[in-house]
Amino acid sequence: MQIPPAYAPLTPETLPRRLGGVPAVAERLGTDTTTWTVKEVGDGNLNLVFVVSSPRATLIVKQALPFLRVVGEGWPLPLNRSFFEYHALMRHAARDPGRVPEVHHFDEDQALVVMQYLSPHVILRKSIVAGVVHPNLARDMGQFLARSLFRGSNLSLPPAKAKADMALFAANAALADITENLVFSEPYFNAPLNRHTPGLAAAIARLVADRDLKVAAQEMKHAFVAKAETLVHGDLHSGSIMVTAEDTQVIDPEFAITGPFGFDIGMLFANFLLGFFAQSGLEPASGARDTYRDWLLSLIPDTWGTFAAEFSRLWHCERTGILYDRRLFEDQGDRLGSEQALDTVLHGIWQDCWGFAGVEMHRRIIGLAHVLEMESIEPPSARARAETRALAMGRHLAVMRATLLNPSRICDLARTIDREEHP
Ligand code: ADP
Ligand code: MG
Repeated sequence: MQIPPAYAPLTPETLPRRLGGVPAVAERLGTDTTTWTVKEVGDGNLNLVFVVSSPRATLIVKQALPFLRVVGEGWPLPLNRSFFEYHALMRHAARDPGRVPEVHHFDEDQALVVMQYLSPHVILRKSIVAGVVHPNLARDMGQFLARSLFRGSNLSLPPAKAKADMALFAANAALADITENLVFSEPYFNAPLNRHTPGLAAAIARLVADRDLKVAAQEMKHAFVAKAETLVHGDLHSGSIMVTAEDTQVIDPEFAITGPFGFDIGMLFANFLLGFFAQSGLEPASGARDTYRDWLLSLIPDTWGTFAAEFSRLWHCERTGILYDRRLFEDQGDRLGSEQALDTVLHGIWQDCWGFAGVEMHRRIIGLAHVLEMESIEPPSARARAETRALAMGRHLAVMRATLLNPSRICDLARTIDREEHP
């Protein structure tokens, strides 16, 4: 791995001296670095994240490390993921303005991005564990998905720009490799970094022996590597979303790559379902918890509804790319042809999204990276009960994705699996 000679990880002690001379930083925080305070807050798995405050302002400084933080120095990871995060943030800001933190400065050699400090935002995953409702979440995420995915694709971009972006993000191969292994393969064999709750061994043995499931997971991996449809965020789970009561912000697109339309949507839906199943069968029964779980499930029809409506609007108003050329449809007065093509595209996204959702649910229970919603359940027997149901849902989604009718059907399936007894 190439590490630029000048690269050095920041510490709270060195940061003011090293960033004090950067104009984009100094003009916000002021030049008197003795008034700055620095706190490392990286609760993530990969990078250093500092909150830097002065009496005038607060900023975030995010710097990549040359290894995977959660595993340690034995797992090298290229610094240039910061470059891809920066480029993805710039594209997201242009495609859905106001939905990502503003970037103030990028230093490629230091693999660092200085960006807007989101406050009083909290990580959505933590808010879900705390049982907080976010009334705008489905609308905001449905719009973000439609705008970022449509405007990053050959439905919208000039062809040379689409190809240049594909080449640019194709170099994010090391992070794609993590997804390819951790999401699509490792859950389905006895990989060394897999781990699971005691009591799940039998359920996992069944999954690993499930031929239809393994084929489905590999079909989804095939789609992930072969369907170069648009710029995907690549890691759009509820730890990559920050929220307040009203606002929604999408952070951390370092896994950005050209991939299938359905990938980000499926990952997000899987995380909503993991939140739903995490509260499965908890004692004592509680009306407030039931209401909260209804809200978590409602995120699926509501997000999909906004996504489909906004995607359709963009299809009609902004279809300037090389795909589904207007000269073949609208320009000939063939509105119906355009609608037929739109339905076909949306249906393909719908099916893919559930395949991706299924494998994402599995890897969060069997693989290396688990989710707080499940991890916070005690005792482990209750966690295993919730996880068994989530595994069953994931299996159904991945294998049956071609038959799933509509979002309310997904909610019905989740409730059915939630009520069933699972061995
Ligand atoms: P990693 O890529 O290492 O997972 P993240 O980008 O997810 O890092 O950031 C780690 C944590 O830092 C987040 O969970 C959040 O708490 C905090 N954070 C990151 N970016 C911001 C921001 N722009 N504003 C406020 N907090 C942030
Ligand atoms: Mg990250």
